[in-house]
Amino acid sequence: MFLEPHFKGQRSGWIEVICGSMFSGKTEELIRRLKRAKIANQKVEIFKPRVDTRYDDRKVVSHDENSILATPIESSKKLLELVEGVSVVGVDEAQFFDMDLPEVAQMLALRGKRVIAAGLDMDYKGRPFGPMPNLLSVAEYITKVHAICQHCGNLATHSYRLTMEGDTVVLGEKDLYEPRCRTCYHMGNILNLQAKENGVK
Ligand code: ZN
Repeated sequence: MFLEPHFKGQRSGWIEVICGSMFSGKTEELIRRLKRAKIANQKVEIFKPRVDTRYDDRKVVSHDENSILATPIESSKKLLELVEGVSVVGVDEAQFFDMDLPEVAQMLALRGKRVIAAGLDMDYKGRPFGPMPNLLSVAEYITKVHAICQHCGNLATHSYRLTMEGDTVVLGEKDLYEPRCRTCYHMGNILNLQAKENGVK
């Protein structure tokens, strides 16, 4: 389990990334860390990209309904204006932010802020998702959380999409995706491809 680092001498900021597939508990882990920071009397703010409007517009909502209020913003640069006096900056659904997010996170860390970003590391095609790979490269601490594969019970790293729609940003989760391990994810894709070739929908 992640424990907050202690600093000697001059306090500086840092970047933490929590990543994984869908249903892996990323947001729950983000909320856990933010609640601990609140207990330590630190000023905490949470942001999410405006594109994510699945649930209540003002909340980071995780699947167990353990939620904290969050502010939707249009671009990652907005963060620079909104974190005056804040010591811990939470970012949810980081994969949907623009490519400036890693640079912005570093600027915030240099200003002494602790930045905690949670996001999908891969899209449903198994490709690195948006700014996530760059964010992982510049982070001090990385936690990869895992779901459980719904087919075989092994640890799941992939988000398998159950529909054939081609758009990467398809919101809404439960009916559209399931967590799968690498093997079951690829088996599913092969079967889908065969079904397509045989004209089965
Ligand atoms: Zn599996």
